[in-house]
Amino acid sequence: MRAYERLLNYVKIYTTSEEEGGATPSAAREFDLGNVLTEELKEIGVKNVRITKNCYVYGEIPATPGMEHIPALGFIAHMDTAPDFSGEGVKPQIIGDYDGSDIRLGDSGRVLSPKAFPDLEKLKGRTLITTDGTTLLGADDKAGIAEIMTMAEQIIKEDIAHGKICIAFTPDEEIGEGADHFDVEGFGAKYAYTVDGGAENEIEFENFNAAGATVKVTGLSVHPGDSKDTMINAALVAMEFNQMLPAGETPRGTKGYEGFFHLTDMSGDVSNATLSYIIRDHDAAHFEIRKEQMQHIADLLNEKYGQVR
Ligand SMILES: [Zn+2]
Repeated sequence: MRAYERLLNYVKIYTTSEEEGGATPSAAREFDLGNVLTEELKEIGVKNVRITKNCYVYGEIPATPGMEHIPALGFIAHMDTAPDFSGEGVKPQIIGDYDGSDIRLGDSGRVLSPKAFPDLEKLKGRTLITTDGTTLLGADDKAGIAEIMTMAEQIIKEDIAHGKICIAFTPDEEIGEGADHFDVEGFGAKYAYTVDGGAENEIEFENFNAAGATVKVTGLSVHPGDSKDTMINAALVAMEFNQMLPAGETPRGTKGYEGFFHLTDMSGDVSNATLSYIIRDHDAAHFEIRKEQMQHIADLLNEKYGQVR
């Protein structure tokens, strides 16, 4: 089977992970794909295939006789899709021989345009698979799973000489918990590639430090006609908080190794406000400073308003 045919099968299985799931997997539906992959690995002849109670799928292809001395090599991909947008009822559209123009995503009114995504221009003449605009496609990372599965099938079928190959499919990567129950020993390889995201022919060999921050502001609601020097408007304090962060240190304003604060969500009124951030930095010391900076701003604002707000 071709990798893209596998992708089209996998994206139809609903595997969105849940931010507040509280268990691993965060959503029981991740087993729907985990079980399918377990069976498929067995069918194509992968050995020692198993799925754990936390929905991690493992398997291995033993080294070709005479190749046992070669270090084992691992390939990993994740089964869940991001909770930011629907992943249920995915209806992929296939665009053959792409002409480089705007791509209408079904009847959703959404458009993929080379103006917003200049990388599309490099894909003229290729076959594209996109969402119809009502859901995520889920190519992140079901394309990775499809590639690994197809690679395994070809290596076995065509009897290509190789060292030991270890395969793992994990749940909950999108909520930052994909590695939590990963069985490094049982996986069996000291070196591995995560087949996920990015452009063709790109290999990333470093990672950033990551944290999330939630800022909660409690206001003091007073009748606006009577509130001189007493009202504390939580929504305004939240805006003040954000204003005190370095303005250019956002995903839009940074590149390469430069770290950032990324405001992912905000809500608020006079009484209560909440800001959600993710913090990223390749440098561990700078990363710690970023976290301290946020605490420092909170302290300053609490001091300014004379109480813990
Ligand atoms: Zn991914």
